[in-house]
Amino acid sequence: MTATPTSSALSLEFSSLPFSAEILEVVRELGYEKLTPIQAQSIPKLLEGRDLIGQSKTGSGKTAAFSLPILENLDLRGRRQLQALILCPTRELCTQVAREIRKLGRRHAGLQVLILAGGSPLFTQLGALEKGVHIAVGTPGRIIDHLSRRTLDLRSVKTVVLDEADRMLDMGFQEDMEHILSQTPTNRQTVLFSATFPRMIEAMSRAYQKSPVRVTIADEAGERAPQIQQYIYEAELDDKFKTLVYLLKKNATGSAIIFCNLKATCAELARTLSNHGVSAEAIHGDLEQFERDRVMAKFRNGSTRLLIATDVAARGIDVENLDAVYNFDLPSTPDVYTHRIGRTGRAGKKGIAISLVLPKQAARVRDLEEQTGVTFIREKVSNLEGVEVALMTEELGEAGAEAKMETLHISGGRKDKVRPGDILGALTGEAGGLAAKDVGKIEIHDRFAYVAVAKHVARDALQALTDGKIKGRKFRIHLVQ
Ligand code: AMP
Repeated sequence: MTATPTSSALSLEFSSLPFSAEILEVVRELGYEKLTPIQAQSIPKLLEGRDLIGQSKTGSGKTAAFSLPILENLDLRGRRQLQALILCPTRELCTQVAREIRKLGRRHAGLQVLILAGGSPLFTQLGALEKGVHIAVGTPGRIIDHLSRRTLDLRSVKTVVLDEADRMLDMGFQEDMEHILSQTPTNRQTVLFSATFPRMIEAMSRAYQKSPVRVTIADEAGERAPQIQQYIYEAELDDKFKTLVYLLKKNATGSAIIFCNLKATCAELARTLSNHGVSAEAIHGDLEQFERDRVMAKFRNGSTRLLIATDVAARGIDVENLDAVYNFDLPSTPDVYTHRIGRTGRAGKKGIAISLVLPKQAARVRDLEEQTGVTFIREKVSNLEGVEVALMTEELGEAGAEAKMETLHISGGRKDKVRPGDILGALTGEAGGLAAKDVGKIEIHDRFAYVAVAKHVARDALQALTDGKIKGRKFRIHLVQ
């Protein structure tokens, strides 16, 4: 599952850092010669006790990046005290992280690392907690369980790591994370790793970290800044729809927004695309709030692939990291253009922005270029023959037309004391039988919740939740259309 870490540009050797002999010996035995880039940037700062917010992927060596400083600063003398807490979104990641820590800490005599996640009974964890552990690696749900039973005390914690923080937010763990942080000493060291940086992550960093060091590791190609390739496709009015279909097929992107200037165009496009099995929904000012919430929840969690929006409707909707933005209609001003396309190409990912323009709009395109300082890549589809929306699902299927996820609606929410961990547990526990990787975003509202599950297991998930219980209670479950 893990990839080889990329070689360090800084070529820092472990022996050049102020590590104890035990740690240096272990990394030598493991054959780690140089620090990976993320380690080279983080470890010296973490050893100084600084807070850190880092962008990283699995395979970058980030587990060792936060674990080695924790091990270095661990006090193993006397009564065992919990000194580091690592929060991970899933049980699998907890296992992986704990395994790595045990491996790196194998020369720390008496080291106790405990996993606090679902899947193993609470009482076995209770025994270990009573005897005392030095490091706990857990999911927010299970840790909250222990906190509410007062079987876990976080007052001695020196370092908290939020690993894959964006995924934890996606799974609806925000409140749980905040509650857990509030139970730790304020002078703790807080380390946050995330693959992406949506606004919520930045807000959490501001709220819970003290002047954190920022560590961003460029992709292989060394890109960091937003990379948006901006295209202009010229099309006659009558050819616009076919051109769009051609482009959607050609790019077969994950999620994209298609902007139109009029509500009627949005509705019409969404209807035509979805009538042909393409996963698309419109969002415009005429929708009731609950419909907007439903459309947005489905789009954010990958159950709807294309969102077709007017500028007014898209204002304030919090979606980032889109693979592409389409302007079915050219926006009225450069500001609107920049705002629209800014939703793609985030966090070092490549994004594309494609605008369809009528031949008579050439002058507006030139103005736009001048005012935004961008040089567009100009294209035109020379032959639209055989481009049929009807063929899109057949030709692309899940790769580019259908959605990968489906959304289940659960008739219980925050006020029913349903928490993300309960839903995740019901789906991935013995009765549910789903793999954690097939469970997506979990959104808890006051009286209901949405959970995204991979399409190929959606029926099983529906059945499992309908037959089973969440937190010992029956709820009504249905697939959101
Ligand atoms: P991670 O990104 O934490 O999932 O780590 C990816 C893999 O790289 C793990 O199997 C680590 O054991 C390994 N690893 C971590 N640091 C280094 C290093 N400095 N040199 C070689 N391998 C490493």
